[in-house]
Amino acid sequence: MKKVLVLGAGQLARMMQLAGTPLNLDVKALDVSSNKVVHPITPEQIYGDLAAGIINADVITAEFEHVAHDILDECEQSGKLFPKSEAIKIGGDRRLEKALLESCNTANAKYYFVNSKEDFDKAINYLSLPIIFKTALEGYDGKGQWRLKVAADAEAIWQDMADFLNASTTVNQGIVAEQMVPFDREISLVGVRRINGDVAVYPLTENHHTNGILTVSVAAPINTKLQEQAGTVFKALSDKLNYVGVMAIEFFQVGDQLLVNEIAPRVHNSGHWTQQGADTCQFENHLRAICDLPLGSTALVRPTAMVNIIGEDTIPDEVLAIASVSVHWYNKGKRAGRKMGHINVSGEHELQLAQRLQNLADILCPKAFPDLNDFAKKYLDKQS
Ligand code: ADP
Ligand code: MG
Repeated sequence: MKKVLVLGAGQLARMMQLAGTPLNLDVKALDVSSNKVVHPITPEQIYGDLAAGIINADVITAEFEHVAHDILDECEQSGKLFPKSEAIKIGGDRRLEKALLESCNTANAKYYFVNSKEDFDKAINYLSLPIIFKTALEGYDGKGQWRLKVAADAEAIWQDMADFLNASTTVNQGIVAEQMVPFDREISLVGVRRINGDVAVYPLTENHHTNGILTVSVAAPINTKLQEQAGTVFKALSDKLNYVGVMAIEFFQVGDQLLVNEIAPRVHNSGHWTQQGADTCQFENHLRAICDLPLGSTALVRPTAMVNIIGEDTIPDEVLAIASVSVHWYNKGKRAGRKMGHINVSGEHELQLAQRLQNLADILCPKAFPDLNDFAKKYLDKQS
C-alpha cells in the first residue's frame, strides 16, 4: 500500500482520499495551518507534524499552490514531492506564471508588472483600459483583484491597491496588470502527466463564474480544433516543467483562439465533473501519476455539468430524485462565499443534461444559486 501525503487538508485532499482508497492508496493530509497530519475525511489527527509526515509518506503532493516555500523545500529534499516544487511555486506566483508562458511562446493576455505608482501609470499607458490588476501571490476565487474601466477611477484604485500592498505581510507581494480580454467564454483543460512523459487530457470544460468564483462547469463534446490547441499548450507547459500529476489550464476563448489565463498545478474545481462524467476521475488520475501507475482513460463517458454549492450547508433532498445527480459535500463549516460542496449532473446527451440542469435549478434556492436558472435556461434553449 503506497502512502501519499497531501499538503493541504481541504476538499481536494478529501476527494483524493475517496478516489485513492479503491486503489489501496493510503492518503493523508497535512493541515498546513496547524502543522498536523490528519485524516482527509474525518479530519482527525493521525500523527505528528510535517517532519513525521514526510518520513511516513512514499509520495507527497499538494492540493493548493500557496503552500509556504519552506514546507515545499523540505518536501522536495526528501525526493518524494510530485509535482516538483518549481511547478507549485510557479502556479502560486502570477509573475513566474507569465515567465513560463513566455518561455513556451504561449498566447496570454498582455501584461505589465506593478510595484509603484510609476509602474501603475506606465501599465495604463502600455495596456490601455480596461485593465484588471491581480495580486501576484495568494490570489484565488477572484480575490485580490481590481478592475479599472474608466480613467476617472484610476486614483482611487491605485490608492486602494497601495493601501493593500502597504498592509500586506506577504514577502515579495506585487501586482500584475493585465489587459481585460473580451472573451467569448472561459474554458479550461485538465490534463495529467506521468513521470515517463505520458500525457492524457480531459475534454475541454466550459466555465461560468459569479463574483469571481466558479459556479458552473460543463463538459460536453467540443470543437476538436480548440481541443487540439489546448492539448498542445498542455503538452508544451507540462513537458517544460517535467510535470507529474494533474494540472489545469484556464483559457479565455476569443474567436477560435485560446489565451491562457492561469495554470493550477493540482486537481481543479473545473475538473470535478470527471467524478461522474469521465472514465477515470481527475483525483484518481492525479494519484496514478504521482504513484507512477499507468494513467486511466480521460474519455468523456456522458455530457456532465458541475454546480458549486457556495456558502450553503444544506440543499433540498429532492435534488437526489433527479436522475444522474450526485452530491458531494466537503464537510466544511458554513461561511458566506465558501465552497461547501458540488453537484454533478449527467445526461445521455446534451439535451437531457440541459433538462436535468433545469430541473435542478427549479429545486435549488435562487438566492443561493443566483445565476443557475439563467444558465440552465440558456443552455436548454441552445439544445432544443
Ligand atoms: P483566480 O486565481 O482568482 O481564479 P483569475 O486570474 O482566474 O484568478 O481571475 C478570476 C476571473 O476573473 C477569471 O475567471 C475571469 O472571469 C476574470 N478575469 C481574470 N483575468 C481577466 C482578463 N485578463 N480579462 C478578462 N477577465 C479576466
Ligand atoms: Mg482562475
